[in-house]
Amino acid sequence: MTHVIAVANQKGGVGKTTTAVNLGAYLGAVGRVLLVDVDPQANASASLGVDPRAIERSVYDVLLGGATLATVVVPTGEPGLSLAPASHGLAGAQVELVDAADRDTRLRDAVASVRDAYDVIILDCAPSLGILTVNALAAADAVLVPVQCEYLALEGLGQLMEIIGAVRAELNPHLELLGVLLTMHDARTNLSTQVEQEVRRHFPAETFTSTVPRSVRLGEAPSYGRSIRSYDAESRGALAYAGVAEEIILRGYGP
Ligand code: ATP
Ligand code: MG
Repeated sequence: MTHVIAVANQKGGVGKTTTAVNLGAYLGAVGRVLLVDVDPQANASASLGVDPRAIERSVYDVLLGGATLATVVVPTGEPGLSLAPASHGLAGAQVELVDAADRDTRLRDAVASVRDAYDVIILDCAPSLGILTVNALAAADAVLVPVQCEYLALEGLGQLMEIIGAVRAELNPHLELLGVLLTMHDARTNLSTQVEQEVRRHFPAETFTSTVPRSVRLGEAPSYGRSIRSYDAESRGALAYAGVAEEIILRGYGP
C-alpha cells in the first residue's frame, strides 16, 4: 500500500525541506519513494542537485494540466528516491488556479495517477496555508509537522490544526496527523528542553521519540545536492533522521 505524507508547517525555516529530503533518502533505502516539491522556492529540488531554472517541466505544469506527474519525475543521486521538481513559476499557479472548480484537488488527482509506482510519496510544502498547501493536504494520507525548538515554537500550530480539520471535513476525511517532529534541537540550551517538554505535553502520542539536533552537517549536505544519508551517514543528524524513518515505518507509513 502506498502512503502519501505531507510535510507541512506554515512557519518558515522550521526544517520541512530538510525533513522531506532526508526522510526521502532513508525511506528510499528500503522502498520506492517519490518526493514532490510543492514549494515555489524549490528548495527540495535544489537540495537534491536539481536546478529549478534548468528543468523543462515541473509540478507547476502538472497543476496547470500541461503535463502528467509521471512525465516530470527525475531520478536523484539517492538510491530509491525520485523527485518531481518545482520551478519558481509554481508561485503563479496559486493565482492561475483561483477560479478553477477543482483547484484544491489537482495534486490529489496527479498523485493518484502515480500511486502504484511508489511505496511512499512525500510532499514538501511551502511556508503558507495557501492553495498549494491545501492541495498537498488534500492529496495526503497523513501530515508530518516539523517544529523548530525555538521561542514561540507552538505559535501557529493551532491554525495549522484548524486547516487540517477543515481539509478533513471538506476534501479528505481520512487525513491523519502522522506526527510532530522536533527539529534544530540543542540539548545544551534550556530553551530547547522547554520547547520539547511543551510540545510533548500538547502532542503526547504524536511527537516522535527521535528529535533532530541542530547540526552543521545537516545544513551542509544540500549544498552538495545530497541527503545526509549519502553525505555523512555517521553524523548525529543522519542518525536522527534514520531514527525518524524507523518510527514512520513503525507507525505504519513506511514502505
Ligand atoms: P521554508 O519554510 O522556507 O520552506 P523549511 O521549513 O523547509 O523552510 P529548511 O529549509 O529545511 O526549512 O531549513 C531551514 C534552514 O535551516 C536551511 O538552511 C537548513 O539547511 C537549515 N537546517 C534545517 N534543519 C537543520 C538542523 N537540524 N540543523 C542545522 N541546520 C538545519
Ligand atoms: Mg522548505
